[in-house]
Amino acid sequence: METLLDNLENSDSSLRSSISIPVIALRGMVMFPNMVLHFDVRREKSVLALENALNGDQNVFVVAQKEIKKDEPSKEDIFQIGIISKVRQIVRQTGGTMRALVEGGQRGKIVSFDFLDPFMRANIQIIPEIIESNPKSIESTALERKAKDMFIEYLNLSPKVSPDVLIAVHAIKNLGQIADFISSNLPLEYEDKQKVLEEIRENERLEMVIKYLAKELDILKMENKLANQLKSSMDQRQKEYLLREQMKVISEELGEEDDPRAEARKYLKKLNALKLSKSNTDKLKEEITRFSKMPYSAGESSILRSYLDFCLNLPWNKLSKENYDILKAEEVLNKGHYGLNDVKEHIIEFLSAKKLSKKSDSHIMCLVGPPGVGKTSIVKSLAKAMGKKYMRISLGGVNDEAEIRGHRKTYMGAMPGRIISAINKAGVRNPIILLDEIDKVSKDYHGDPASALLEVLDSEQNKEFNDHFLDLDFDLSDVFFVCTANDVSQIPAPLFDRMEIINLYSYTYEEKFKICTRYLIPKQLKKNGLNNKTFHIKESSVRLLIDGYTREAGVRELDRKISSLMRKAAKLIVTGKKKRVIIDDKTLEKMLGPRKYKKDDISKEGEVGIVRGLAWTSVGGDTLPIEVSLMKGKGKVQITGSLGDVMKESAQLAVSYIRSNSKKLGIKDDFYKTMDIHIHAPEGAVPKDGPSAGVTMTTALVSALSKTPVKQDVAMTGEITLKGRVLPIGGLREKTMAAYKAGVKTVIIPAGNECDIQKLDDVVKENMKFVTAENLDTVLDNALQH
Ligand code: ADP
Repeated sequence: METLLDNLENSDSSLRSSISIPVIALRGMVMFPNMVLHFDVRREKSVLALENALNGDQNVFVVAQKEIKKDEPSKEDIFQIGIISKVRQIVRQTGGTMRALVEGGQRGKIVSFDFLDPFMRANIQIIPEIIESNPKSIESTALERKAKDMFIEYLNLSPKVSPDVLIAVHAIKNLGQIADFISSNLPLEYEDKQKVLEEIRENERLEMVIKYLAKELDILKMENKLANQLKSSMDQRQKEYLLREQMKVISEELGEEDDPRAEARKYLKKLNALKLSKSNTDKLKEEITRFSKMPYSAGESSILRSYLDFCLNLPWNKLSKENYDILKAEEVLNKGHYGLNDVKEHIIEFLSAKKLSKKSDSHIMCLVGPPGVGKTSIVKSLAKAMGKKYMRISLGGVNDEAEIRGHRKTYMGAMPGRIISAINKAGVRNPIILLDEIDKVSKDYHGDPASALLEVLDSEQNKEFNDHFLDLDFDLSDVFFVCTANDVSQIPAPLFDRMEIINLYSYTYEEKFKICTRYLIPKQLKKNGLNNKTFHIKESSVRLLIDGYTREAGVRELDRKISSLMRKAAKLIVTGKKKRVIIDDKTLEKMLGPRKYKKDDISKEGEVGIVRGLAWTSVGGDTLPIEVSLMKGKGKVQITGSLGDVMKESAQLAVSYIRSNSKKLGIKDDFYKTMDIHIHAPEGAVPKDGPSAGVTMTTALVSALSKTPVKQDVAMTGEITLKGRVLPIGGLREKTMAAYKAGVKTVIIPAGNECDIQKLDDVVKENMKFVTAENLDTVLDNALQH
C-alpha cells in the first residue's frame, strides 16, 4: 500500500519549497491546523527555540515526539510531520518555565535539519491537503453528517466539553477541517492523533476520525452507565437506610418494637379480644402468622400490616345505643322539615314497627322524588332523632361491583368497598347508611353493582356480607339502610322488589315560601353568623327570589341563593359599611343580578297548531309545548325536538285517529296523501312518560289541519287509543304544578285520573279548572276555539 510519505515524495515539486524554522517537540500532545494551543515549556532547547522564533518571524514548527519519556529527543525521536505555527505570546513563569500561546497554521514536514543545537532548526516543507474533488458528493455529505451527528452525541454525553465547541463544529464545512477539529477535541492517544495529522486525504482522514469517535462514544456510554448504576445503587441503599432509621424512630416513639413477631403478638391479642366468629378468627390468625414470618422490610409486609390494622379496627361489635322514642323522633322531624307529612308519617310507622319487632321486615325505605325536596336531609334528621351515626354513600355513576364490594387485597392499591368503608368511618356497626341515587347505578363489564347491593340490602344475606378486601364475613344486619332515587322506573328490578317506596313531590310556590321563611332563612342566619337584627329580607323579596331566580322542583337553589345573599350581607357588616342589611326587591336585584325567570307570557289569542302539553320528568313536572306545521307533500310525518320513540307512536296514533274521523273533524280525508306533517317539541324537557303526549299531539294536528286556533291558557295530558279514548297517566301532581306555574287556567286530564285530583296541591286546586275527558271529543271541545 502506498504510504503517506511516498505520496508526498510523489507530489508536485513546486509545492515543496521549504522554509527554515525552529522546532519545538511536544510531549504527549499533537497540534492541529488552526488550533490555538497553550502549553508550558520547560526544556531549555524548547525555550530557546521559542525565543528565537519570537525574535524572528514568529514561525515555529510544532511537532510531537515519539516517546513521551525522552527528555532530550534527538532528530529521530520526533515525528516528521507537524504544524507550522506562529508564536503569539510567551509568559515567563517562576522556576524558569515559559507559558506559550501558539496558533497552528498548515501541516508541514521536516525535510532536513539546519542544526540540532542549542535548539533544533529544520527545513520544513508545507504539505498540501488532498481535497475531495466534489465536496458536495453524496459520500462527502454523508461523511460530514455522520461525523457531526456523532460528535454532537458525544458532546451531549460528555459533561466536560464547553457548549462553544458545538457551535464551532456546525460552522465548519471542509471535511478535513472537521476531522482536525473533532480529533483535537477528543481525548485520543497522541499516537492516534498523530495518525490523523499524517493523513492528508480529507475523506480518509474524516473516516478515520469517525472510527475513533465511535470508539470514544462507546467508552463514554459505558462510563455513564457505570456511573448511573453506581449512583442508583447508592441512592437505593441510602433511601432504605434512611427509611429504616425513620421507622426505628417512629417505632420507638410509638413504643413498638422493630420486630414483626412482637407486632404479631399484639395483633393476636387484639384479635382474641374481638371475639369474632371462628372462621373469621382462623382466617385472621393465618394472616397474622404469615405477617410474623415476613422480614420487616418486605413490601408485602406493609400491605399486610395495613390490612390487619384495618380489619382489627373495624367496629365488629361496637353498637351505638338506639333510641326508639317515637315521640321524640316525630318532634325532631317536624322541627327540621316543613310539610312532608306523608313521609314523616311513613317514617314514624316504620320506626314503630322496628321498635316492636326489633328486626323489622326485610323492606328498605326508599325516598323517591325530584332533587332538593329534602330526601337526604330528612334522613339526616331521622339519624339525629334516633341517636344514630349517619353515613351517606353516593351511588350516582357507580358501575363497578368492586365499588360496593371492594378489591381483593392481592390487587395493587386494593381498598375495601364503600359499604365497609362507611362502617369503618362510622365506628359503629349500626349506623344509618343512606344509599343516595340508587337509580343511577349502572352495569358494565366491571360487573353489576346492583347485585352486590342486593346482597347488602337482603336481611337474609347481609349477616355475612363478604367484602373482597376483608375476605371476612361482616354482619350488616344492624345497619339501617335508606335509599333515595329520582326516578323509580330506573331502579334495578330486583332491588325495587325489596323497597318500600315513599314519594316526595315538588313543592308548590306557597310551600317554598313557607320552607324558605321558616326553615332556610333561620338555618342560613345561624350558618352565616347573622340574626334577625342584622339581616332582614322582605316578604315580597322572598317571593321574587322564588319566582324570578329559581325554577326547580325542590328548594336547593333557593337555599343557595339565600346563603349567597347572607354572605354578601355579612361582608357589608364586617367591612363596616352597614350595621343592618335589609333586602328589598331593589337590593335583591343589585346583589343577585336581574331576575332570571319571567312568568310565561300566555297570549290571549288562540294559536293554530300549538298546544301546551304537560310532561313528567325525573326532576319534576314541566310544560311541553307541541307545534305542528303542514306543508304540501306526500304524507311524510317528521318529528323533531326532544321526543323519544314512544312519542313517535303517539304521533302515528294521532294521524290514524284523524284519518278515520276526518269527516267529523271537518278535515279533508286525503290530507295524509297531499300534506307533509312536521311535529316539533321546541323546549328541552325530556318526558319520562311518552304516551301521555297523545292528546296534545292529536289536538295540535287537528288544529293545524282544520285551521282552528287552540286556547293558549289550556294545558293537557293523556294517552289515547286508536278509537279516541283518553287513558289515565302518572305524575299528575308534578304536571299540574308545572301548569300552575306557567299560568295555565284550565287543565284537561283523563277521566281515569279524576280520583287523583283530591291529592293535588291546594293552591293548584284553588287556582285551576280541571276538565276530565273520557275521549278526544271532550278534549277538542275544551281546547279549540270554535
Ligand atoms: P334531596 O336529597 O331531595 O335532593 P336535600 O335533602 O339535599 O334534597 O334538600 C336540599 C335543601 O333543602 C336542604 O338544605 C334541606 O334542608 C332543604 N329542604 C328541603 N325540603 C325541606 C323542607 N320540607 N323543610 C325544610 N327544609 C327543606
